[in-house]
Amino acid sequence: MKVARLARMAAMARNKLLCSSHLASMHISTPTSRQISMKTEGLTARLNSAGLLRTQGLIGGKWTDAYDGKTIQVLNPATGEVVADVPCMGGKETNDAISSAHDAFYSWSNLTCTERSKHLRTWYNLLISHKEELGQLITLEQGKPLKEAIGEVNYGASFIEFFAEEAKRVYGDIIPATLGDRRLLVLKQPVGVVGAITPWNFPLAMITRKVGPALACGCTVVIKPSELTPLTALAAAELALQAGIPPGVLNVVMGNAPDIGNALLASSQVRKITFTGSTAVGKKLMEGAAGTVKRVSLELGGNAPCIIFDDADLDVAVKGSLAAKFRNSGQTCVCANRLIVQEGIYDKFAEAFSKAVQNLQVGDGFSEGVVQGPLINESAVQKVESFVQDAISKVCLFCLLIDGNY
Ligand code: ADP
Repeated sequence: MKVARLARMAAMARNKLLCSSHLASMHISTPTSRQISMKTEGLTARLNSAGLLRTQGLIGGKWTDAYDGKTIQVLNPATGEVVADVPCMGGKETNDAISSAHDAFYSWSNLTCTERSKHLRTWYNLLISHKEELGQLITLEQGKPLKEAIGEVNYGASFIEFFAEEAKRVYGDIIPATLGDRRLLVLKQPVGVVGAITPWNFPLAMITRKVGPALACGCTVVIKPSELTPLTALAAAELALQAGIPPGVLNVVMGNAPDIGNALLASSQVRKITFTGSTAVGKKLMEGAAGTVKRVSLELGGNAPCIIFDDADLDVAVKGSLAAKFRNSGQTCVCANRLIVQEGIYDKFAEAFSKAVQNLQVGDGFSEGVVQGPLINESAVQKVESFVQDAISKVCLFCLLIDGNY
């Protein structure tokens, strides 16, 4: 009985998931020529006139093309439209960005903590006052629903606010000495240039969470946003310039990820790598950082079970599981990848959860009522479809083994 229900749920889940992923795959085409709808054109024109559609890298305060003129397309994952072309940069541009960050380090780290704090606070204010435009940019290039995208701007900006305050509280320590003629003092000092490599699922928040603390304590930064979502990073950098953060303190390069990564790793001027992304890339960065003994902070793939016990409040459990599983269309590192449900509540939970999943509205993140945007690209669609097929084949096998009649 339970097994048959499990099989029905699997079929329902398959229909739902295939519908949503097909939405993404049906709409995504590989554009051969520049194609753009009136809606996207209107949005990009508005963002452009607000000065927030930056389509060049930022090196030493100057907006810069790739030295060989190469570009990559940024696509709207809901429609496959080309939103913009951005430079496809590599090692040379990255080395110049590192030099600019290194040159800017002396003066930035010598500002007083209050001066750095003020710059960060001004940047925070600008991020918040442009939250609508930044949210639109996130939806355009990443796909998440606009309300969620604006939520990301609030969340992302909050790191800058937090570290604007923390900039004034970088305290040291006095340690009791074991010898009478010694004093032991700990001073906290900025390490130097930081290389920040970020993913596409939170195009703003993953940047501000790395750049906020680095700038607060006096480091300068070379950011490499994901090539899938560079526009939000560039808009945030534009606002940093407007906030008076001096040229060179914050640089942005994008394009050939291994070339940029290798240049950051090879440089003895880069003293720290901070990264959010896959475990495979994280391991490479950790290995590469050893050559110049850089510090590394890595936030890598998650493995997150969601456990529902018999005594759970059903509504709360369904709501919580839905949020844990479907936030950002399942594309966050803490999204539940297994639901483990205790036997006593299983049937009720399974029914309520599948009903709630059926009600999720899938579509373009700009459409009213949509809570599930597209997956980021075609390979993400294929990955999800393979997971669904794998799960269904295992449920069917399980049913055959137990029931012998599915
Ligand atoms: P995901 O699979 O979630 O896209 P990745 O680890 O591939 O995660 O990507 C996260 C970030 O790491 C992106 O900005 C991507 O461009 C970058 N990246 C990928 N490969 C490398 C590399 N070899 N060196 C440096 N950065 C890389």
